[in-house]
Amino acid sequence: MPNPTAFIEEPARQVEVVHETDVLVVGSGPGGLAAALAAARAGVEVALIERFGCFGGNITVVGVEGFAWYRHEATVEAGGIGREFEERAKAMGAASPESQSLSYELDSEGFKLVADRLVEEAGVKPMLHRLSVAPVMDGDAIKGIIVESKAGREAILAKRVIDATGDADIAHRAGAPTFKTPVEKMQAASVMFHLAGIDKRAFLDGVTADPQTYGDWSTGEWKVETSGKEDKMFSPFLSKPFQKAIEAGLIPAHLNTIGGTWGALHESGELTYMNLVHLAGCDGTDPDSLTRFEIEGRRQAMLAIEALRRYAPGCAKARLRNFGMTIGIRDTRKIDAVYNLSEQDVRNEARFEDSIGIYPEFIDGYGVLILPTTGRYMHIPYRALLPKRIENLLVAGRAIGGERIAHAATRNMACCAVTGQGAGIAAALSVRSGEALDRLNMAQIQKELARQQVRFQ
Ligand SMILES: Cc1cc2nc3c(=O)[nH]c(=O)nc-3n(C[C@H](O)[C@H](O)[C@H](O)COP(=O)(O)OP(=O)(O)OC[C@H]3O[C@@H](n4cnc5c(N)ncnc54)[C@H](O)[C@@H]3O)c2cc1C
Repeated sequence: MPNPTAFIEEPARQVEVVHETDVLVVGSGPGGLAAALAAARAGVEVALIERFGCFGGNITVVGVEGFAWYRHEATVEAGGIGREFEERAKAMGAASPESQSLSYELDSEGFKLVADRLVEEAGVKPMLHRLSVAPVMDGDAIKGIIVESKAGREAILAKRVIDATGDADIAHRAGAPTFKTPVEKMQAASVMFHLAGIDKRAFLDGVTADPQTYGDWSTGEWKVETSGKEDKMFSPFLSKPFQKAIEAGLIPAHLNTIGGTWGALHESGELTYMNLVHLAGCDGTDPDSLTRFEIEGRRQAMLAIEALRRYAPGCAKARLRNFGMTIGIRDTRKIDAVYNLSEQDVRNEARFEDSIGIYPEFIDGYGVLILPTTGRYMHIPYRALLPKRIENLLVAGRAIGGERIAHAATRNMACCAVTGQGAGIAAALSVRSGEALDRLNMAQIQKELARQQVRFQ
């Protein structure tokens, strides 16, 4: 049994500095990848650290392929690197039309190659297979990070650091104030999977015969608040096969949480981005919790697949193709930023002088679903990326400052790309001008955003 009062003393040691750079980005999801590309394109040296063997974050390691499934005719967006992800993926054969929107679904495997290409073209130094374990500090100023890898411990120094770990790992360990939703109120985690062996025609005939809507999300375990206009719109939603499996005793009644959306259906018979397993109570910053829910999630996924085989048209020969490389975590630490976005901001088209990009009125999470079908949009303020207390550090992606419903908007991947691109540009301009991150000239940032084709007004 572990003894919580037992500790060991780690001996002090010298750690080799293996690299020095202008801007160091830690984490390569939509936030970090956009940050690294934007900083490099703004003319500074950039290194991109990632704990896994590919870039892309949730897109590639979890298998979250629905990058812009909110997009409808009236939707207004920032463009920039987020749009480029989609366009490059299309051009490289790594995207397919998305079933409920005017967007393309990214291919989680193909996007690994897209990210490699973008990183290489921008001249970003790729540093995979390194887990950031500690900041290098000089008082309240961050000077770099220490990573662990197969090579042991290494130090990487930088003039500015961007924390794009999703979990605010760097900010938290550097001593910046952060918030964490109580575990019982966190958004559920998901073990994602992809299937092979689907009869595409039969599956689509089944969808046509019994189309599901966003209104159907409010069945079983969930109650989802919409603005009303979403309720009759088509959603690639699956719940009936699992209800039948519960009635037949195949799935235990308490697992009425199994259900959700399917993603891309390919001619090859692959049905990908199966978002069907929802695990409440998983704390993505606790390895014991992660261990338990990885195993439990795989177990539930196999129950879901058996239910699809028996009760979903076209799925009789369905076979597990693969799980995501890791469990999908939606909700952990957020920084207490210089400005924390509020629910009012995301619901009421907030406007800010220090906007680094716009984001459509798309709110998805904590029991709310609002789709941007009307052209309404908000500004994302630079100050939401600035942690309190720590110098030389910015945060991009899902850990920026804001309250719960604000995160139901900003956690989305296209918004993470907006905050990443803004952070990358700000860090680059800070290096070039020598100004501190909290003293930057917003007009200069916005000029570079415009040059990089980001809409911020
Ligand atoms: C199951 C699921 C379904 C979702 N569905 C959608 C959807 O349909 N549409 C949508 O827009 N959003 C969706 N989301 C939300 C979205 O995927 C995330 O909010 C978004 O990817 C966050 O981007 P990020 O760049 O902040 O972090 P991430 O995508 O999480 O990337 C963080 C990266 O940092 C790396 N990293 C973390 N810690 C360290 C460390 N200490 N050292 C080195 N590297 C580290 C990770 O390996 C990872 O690659 C979903 C999320 C989940 C879990």
